[in-house]
Amino acid sequence: MAVTEAGCDLTYCKMRGIVAVLTAFIKERKMGLNDFIQKLVSTPHICQHVEVNNFLKIDENQNEEMDKDELPDPMYLHSRSSLAEDTQIKPCDFDYLKIIGKGSFGKVLLARHKETKKYYAVKVLQKKIILKKKEQKHIMAERSVLMKNIKHPFLVGLHYSFQTTDKLYFVLDYVNGGELFYHLQRERIFLEPRARFYAAEIASALGYLHSLHIVYRDLKPENILLDSQGHIVLTDFGLCKEGLEPNGTTSTFCGTPEYLAPEVLQKQAYDRTVDWWCLGSVLYEMLYGLPPFYSRNTAEMYNNILNKAPVLKPNVSNAGRELLEGLLQKERTKRAGGVTRLLTLMSSLSLQLELKYHSFFSPINWDDLMAKKITPPFLPSVSGPTDLRHFDPEFTHLPVSSSLCTDSMIHLTNSVREAAGAFPGFSYGPPEDHSFEHSRFI
Ligand code: AMP
Repeated sequence: MAVTEAGCDLTYCKMRGIVAVLTAFIKERKMGLNDFIQKLVSTPHICQHVEVNNFLKIDENQNEEMDKDELPDPMYLHSRSSLAEDTQIKPCDFDYLKIIGKGSFGKVLLARHKETKKYYAVKVLQKKIILKKKEQKHIMAERSVLMKNIKHPFLVGLHYSFQTTDKLYFVLDYVNGGELFYHLQRERIFLEPRARFYAAEIASALGYLHSLHIVYRDLKPENILLDSQGHIVLTDFGLCKEGLEPNGTTSTFCGTPEYLAPEVLQKQAYDRTVDWWCLGSVLYEMLYGLPPFYSRNTAEMYNNILNKAPVLKPNVSNAGRELLEGLLQKERTKRAGGVTRLLTLMSSLSLQLELKYHSFFSPINWDDLMAKKITPPFLPSVSGPTDLRHFDPEFTHLPVSSSLCTDSMIHLTNSVREAAGAFPGFSYGPPEDHSFEHSRFI
């Protein structure tokens, strides 16, 4: 009896062993097959080979613009098998709870990591739209800037980036105090101490980016968020220009009309001082309630930016008006923050000293500011990560697409194939000690 039992145990153990080996084998084969298919998909000339086509069962006659969500057909390939790069993270590791914002290439969603239960903002971009607008460079720049931003208190942190055949994903710190613009619209203007606090935190983030030779270029209230404590967090690095040395210039035309600096408008060479112009525009809007050269008529607004001095009404202190005048200098070499070129060249301390020591900022202790020791002038009062009161209901009421996580089937059209391989090296996973533990919402 005992022998039989022992025999049975042995058989059972053996069986378990065999099942485990088989499971591992199948899993490995599956992963290998996924990788293999992804490689095929991202190599257009191989994809066109008749045998490969047969293997993948590609139907070339299907309409390229068809919405994949409407096409649950066996001839479509799983998008879930995210392009095998250096991260194992994938869309289905998250529950997508709400849409919290929209940008030009896709949506930003509140998401919770299924395992750790931590909250993140996941920015999901449609590759097809990026390729159509020929914006790959900007998106890769955004990723690269987000990765470089190792840790700065006022810049959004990137935890992961990964891609599927048709989408790019950025897993970011979730910041739920609302857009600065949202609060500014509600209150029309901010009193000077509050505007000073925000301007100082923004300046410190810009100075840090400049020290990494990055020009932010697109500072505007929609890109300036408040965290749950009321501190600034800059997001959206899609328009950043990397590799600009202190006196380096570039001339790509981009930015938002209200805040365009004269040199950008005139397609002249520009440099990091363009960010100080934008800081001036945002500070002006915080103090006066409208952008400095605003007109409903765009042509008139452009003319104002190029030729008119900003109207500086006396309800702002002398120091504030003097700083605005300095930041909104049409001649970039005379702009506040620009004259310290020699100092900037000599040291990597790129928080512009001229700004830092301007009398407008004299109440600010910059070390305390960086250490977040200054109590923010406004507390967004959120009860927790799922409190969405500071997000626009226009977004939060939208239904969340199930295709973000479900194993949606992708039709392998030419455009999908092109998109699949258009962002090599996009995926990013942090080094081991920078895991999900570092989220702001623990
Ligand atoms: P973007 O595409 O980066 O311009 O983002 C569009 C909008 O989504 C922003 O204006 C914010 O309202 C929201 N958003 C972007 N990033 C985050 C984030 N990390 N946390 C919370 N909301 C965000």
